[in-house]
Amino acid sequence: MASRFILRNPCTSSLKNSRYFCVAAFNASYKDSFYHKDLSITKVDTPKSYPPKDQLLFGHNFTDHMLEAKWTKENGWEKPKIVPFHNLTIHPASGVLHYAIECFEGAKAYKGKDGKVRMFRLDANMRRMNKSTASISLPTFDVEEAVKCITDLVKLESNAIPEGFGYSLYLRPTVIATEPKLSIRENSSALFYTICSPCGPYFPTGFKAVRLFADTEHVRAWPGGTGDNKLGSNYDGGMYLTKLANQKGYQQILWLFGEEHNITEAGSMNAFIYWTNEEGVLELITPRLDGTILPGVTRDSILSMCRKWGEFQVTEGSITMKQLAKASKEGRLHEVFGAGTGCIISPVKEIGYLGSNIPVPLDPNDPTSESGPLSRRIYEELMAIQYGDIPHEWTTILE
Ligand SMILES: *Cc1c(COP(=O)(O)O)cnc(C)c1O
Repeated sequence: MASRFILRNPCTSSLKNSRYFCVAAFNASYKDSFYHKDLSITKVDTPKSYPPKDQLLFGHNFTDHMLEAKWTKENGWEKPKIVPFHNLTIHPASGVLHYAIECFEGAKAYKGKDGKVRMFRLDANMRRMNKSTASISLPTFDVEEAVKCITDLVKLESNAIPEGFGYSLYLRPTVIATEPKLSIRENSSALFYTICSPCGPYFPTGFKAVRLFADTEHVRAWPGGTGDNKLGSNYDGGMYLTKLANQKGYQQILWLFGEEHNITEAGSMNAFIYWTNEEGVLELITPRLDGTILPGVTRDSILSMCRKWGEFQVTEGSITMKQLAKASKEGRLHEVFGAGTGCIISPVKEIGYLGSNIPVPLDPNDPTSESGPLSRRIYEELMAIQYGDIPHEWTTILE
């Protein structure tokens, strides 16, 4: 009965004051996104102070404010709010606590030499977040509206962004399931929020090449699984295994998949191999997006940058440990690195595989170097774009 009236335009309806209008108005108020025009801002009375910038550890300090928007299946999104940073109060039965119904993003805002604050490809992060939320039945939102709301938060916190190359404001957009029921079914309430953390460079004293442990017994992701979305639940399985690898002297796990030991990702970074391939072609290769790979924004940026250079073949494909080991033996392996927003580039110097260590070259012209020339060049060019030394369509200046 009610559905007949939902179709009626409430503004022209002669039933304006009847209870049927209420039904129509109620449904019309369902929001499939939160909107920037509805954003309210409540500021703290006294801004906090931060540790000296050389003491900032990743994700240890948070700014004064956070962005929040609540969602229910019944009413859609509520109005977004920027409010003083606070602890969350959620029901102990919330889906995020039991079934890990959660996804997140990691992006950064940078302050350039000109004092201007720049966002780097935040739209790409928020598009990816919409894909993550949809994959676990959490609500989606309008990407542009989310970008505008987060941008306002960053503007408000611009004083908290440390200046200097390598320094940034790390942004952590998050969506969690908050329905106060233990039932394993589609969740009916959620919270979107964004917190900000002023950060120092990942390598404060310059690159430090890492050793990876190629794990042949465990997998991070599999075709048809959830590994191509940024879900908190993709991380917990790696914690213990990474600890074991650390005890053996390796910093991260090199995740493999399949009988052939295909390389997938390095820790929580996308993996890149620079080599002369079996056809004798100089190539930068990264695993293709086959469902086992997180589509990194850094990965995408590197691919596009290197294709533009046009100096070597750039491939999204597959490469196995056997191919890598053979290339190393034959002197065809030039560089291996991980890539992600946190460190941008993480050079690799050795890979533990089936009981032996595969050496990975760093800089052939400098035995003391902790990175290969290509790793360094990509790192420097990406930073130059992020800090505005090279103007680029990927950066948005906040006025
Ligand atoms: C976030 C993430 C990356 C890197 O993505 P960026 O967008 O470049 O930061 C790579 N692998 C995994 C598993 C990740 O969660």
